[in-house]
Amino acid sequence: MSFTGLVGYDPVKVSLNVYSEVSKLSNGVELRKYYRFRGGRWYGGIATADVIGCNLACKFCWSWRFRNNFKAGKLYTPEQVYVKLVSIAKNSNYRYVRLSGAEPTISKEHLLKLLKMFEGSNYIFILETNGILLGYDVCYARELSRYGNLIIRVSFKGTSPEEFNMLTGADPQFFELQVKALENLILSGFKAGSEVYPAAMIGFSSDKSIVDFVRMLKNIDPRLVNVDWEYVIMYKHVEELLEKHGLKPLRYVRPDEIPKEMI
Ligand code: SF4
Repeated sequence: MSFTGLVGYDPVKVSLNVYSEVSKLSNGVELRKYYRFRGGRWYGGIATADVIGCNLACKFCWSWRFRNNFKAGKLYTPEQVYVKLVSIAKNSNYRYVRLSGAEPTISKEHLLKLLKMFEGSNYIFILETNGILLGYDVCYARELSRYGNLIIRVSFKGTSPEEFNMLTGADPQFFELQVKALENLILSGFKAGSEVYPAAMIGFSSDKSIVDFVRMLKNIDPRLVNVDWEYVIMYKHVEELLEKHGLKPLRYVRPDEIPKEMI
């Protein structure tokens, strides 16, 4: 498919470069860079580890200051991350844990080891991903399907290839990899709508584009139509970033408008 006049970077290639900056092998164990561990009320209460390193460069990204700041943070083994997440979750009585902040799928072996540790635990692991690498490599999706207490949230950057290009600066054809991620995960055995579900940034989307997007999801699997819609959260630092890129969202929320139970 060609998108006349629209060009951009290849996020799969970017992943390789980012991988070399945020991952390190030590005694056969893959370490990953993290900049923060925290609790929060999203999902009704969740322990979160924020990774460093993303393969996209979204112009609305709330974590843009740390996302690819390779000098920040520290390298952790999967076991160290497990211990920190469990300790946060235990202290606050959370049921959920997650990786967030940038793209967790970039250090695959690290992620798989961490998932293995949570297998059979009382915690549900929410993998928040932009889906690029899972769309690119069906084997990766299959490997994830080995882990029982895992939910995957594929977060679309816009609702069409053109919006994806506008919002991320990546080549529009890579929007397809986000779609493919859902397909690959469902093919690998994840139940659509419960074990894998879509989220989408619609802060810049027209109503028509949203309708077309939902129609596309319905064609993959009718259970995917319950989309977790994302609005731009107008933190001061996000406003600065949008201004820099000359972007004005159609839909946004101010941080003080977010219901307290979600923060
Ligand atoms: S995929 Fe997520 S972390 Fe990466 S740039 Fe986009 S919003 Fe930021």
